[in-house]
Amino acid sequence: MSAGQLIDGKSMAQDVKRELVQRIDRLESETGVRPGLAVILVGNDPASETYVRGKVQDCRDVGIRSELIRLPESTTEEELLGEIDRLNEDPLFHGILVQLPLPRHISAERVIHRIRPEKDVDGFHPINVGKLVIGQESFVPCTPYGIMEMLRRTGISVAGKHAVVVGRSNIVGKPISLLLQQADATVTMCHSRTKDLPSHTQRAEILVVAVGKPHVIGPEHVRPNAVVIDVGINRTPEGKLTGDVDFEAVRPIASYITPVPGGVGPMTRAMLLVNTVRAAERAAGNVRG
Ligand code: NDP
Repeated sequence: MSAGQLIDGKSMAQDVKRELVQRIDRLESETGVRPGLAVILVGNDPASETYVRGKVQDCRDVGIRSELIRLPESTTEEELLGEIDRLNEDPLFHGILVQLPLPRHISAERVIHRIRPEKDVDGFHPINVGKLVIGQESFVPCTPYGIMEMLRRTGISVAGKHAVVVGRSNIVGKPISLLLQQADATVTMCHSRTKDLPSHTQRAEILVVAVGKPHVIGPEHVRPNAVVIDVGINRTPEGKLTGDVDFEAVRPIASYITPVPGGVGPMTRAMLLVNTVRAAERAAGNVRG
């Protein structure tokens, strides 16, 4: 049986990082500006610890100055907002990232709103979200940005295609549906209240799944030759990572498919670096789009 081609997010992310090294060197030699990212971690959630360590290491790999600001679980909202105010004013940091989730006593909404939109490299600030909706240049959240970049680098055309997005979260489902629509796809959005999910997903030439439930998509959901992008990250009882798509069963039907791990995840990480470099280029008045 022929199998869908793998979209190798890991090696693609390496390409993105290699390109960034040159872009950062050029920016520094032309303007004296070296991009900087401040990462704030409140508390010591083990998963968050792993994520922030990865982000700081990624920065080091490409030559972005990075600082990990660790704050105790007992940090008050006022203290965290004060830290953001300080970083908003600090010219060494072009991007500010607050690792979510935050402790319950802190409002993530208030915190995200406090980050200056031009330093909001996660693309979560309402100004950036609004710009994305109306098609203005903005910081695009890293996961959907990474998915669009994966499609582009694989040479998959989007215009005129029927794309189906399963999941409607603010960080994945909603923004990817907007980006696909802006790239001239016809987009259907599905969610937990969608009736007869397979009848929708079976029509997808491009299927993006961001649900957070292992193997919620099987072969009965997939149109022959579809491009399947699996955003989900789930842990099996044995401790292995698995996606939302039943990879082994769906791969033979798909034309292209992303693995988990090694698909959307590495590209998400890479796009944070791209957003940080863009923030620095803008701050230096050296915009490259
Ligand atoms: P959310 O929990 O915020 O959203 C999940 C969405 O899936 C909701 O819109 C929900 O619908 C929908 N949904 C739930 N069950 C079903 C179902 N049975 N059928 C159809 N739709 C359903 O998740 P996120 O978007 O934040 O994340 C999704 C997954 O992607 C997670 O596994 C997460 O870990 C992963 N992720 C991976 C990233 C990466 O870098 N690779 C980055 C971000 C997330 P409703 O709105 O009706 O509740």
